Amino acid sequence: KIRPLLAGNWKMNGTRASLDQIKAIADGVKAPLSEKIDTLLCPPASLLYVATALCDDSPLAIGAQDCHQQINGPHTGDISAEMIADCFGTHVIVGHSERRRNHAESDMLVRAKAEAAHAFGLTTIICIGETAYERNSGQTLDVLKRELGASVPESSTSETTVIAYEPVWAIGSGQIPTRADIEEAHAFMRDELVERFGTDGRNIRLLYGGSVNGDNAAELLAISNVNGLLVGGHSLKAVDFLAIYGAF
Ligand code: 13P
Repeated sequence: KIRPLLAGNWKMNGTRASLDQIKAIADGVKAPLSEKIDTLLCPPASLLYVATALCDDSPLAIGAQDCHQQINGPHTGDISAEMIADCFGTHVIVGHSERRRNHAESDMLVRAKAEAAHAFGLTTIICIGETAYERNSGQTLDVLKRELGASVPESSTSETTVIAYEPVWAIGSGQIPTRADIEEAHAFMRDELVERFGTDGRNIRLLYGGSVNGDNAAELLAISNVNGLLVGGHSLKAVDFLAIYGAF
């Protein structure tokens, strides 16, 4: 059985004033539930080092939201995988739709970022998902096939790689695909991964993300091949994130 993962993505939110929320989440992620599920929080890079220190005694893992594809060099404003690992971050999100859209990141670039992350021992959360236009024109599975094929490095294993299905139109909108649509997308991704990675493809965790909250989490987790959740807005406050945690 796959060990589930609950991940929070703070996006461009959070200052030092929010450290009490990170501490509350770290304290709230406790046994016995923490023996069955993994938890991860991805605050902004500015809080990474302090956040990992706050989680010293907690099973809560800390990760970053993006990394550069190069090891180091003249890339003003970027953060490298090594820097994340140096702050004791263990994970990094790559290919989030906001980066794909706002920074014109291609599948090839996302793949290079994931490779850089793996080289420094980070686990990647690789995000894929269709836009509203793509869904309405019946292209959802084609998009998932293309993004999975092109964004996920050949060297990926179930230890180093998590896939997050985040329909772009479901992010921050309060709209969620139907149960049948999520089930279809996740079954499709599973088949694609098994075809490419063999039996290890069965163990790669598939997260759902997009308008997840404490009220819909249990229902989402009951869908087959949903091995966890990637949460945006409802990961910012400990009370919201821990309500989702409690649904596992
Ligand atoms: P929301 O949970 O705010 O819809 O964001 C989802 C997301 O993009 C997480 O990466």
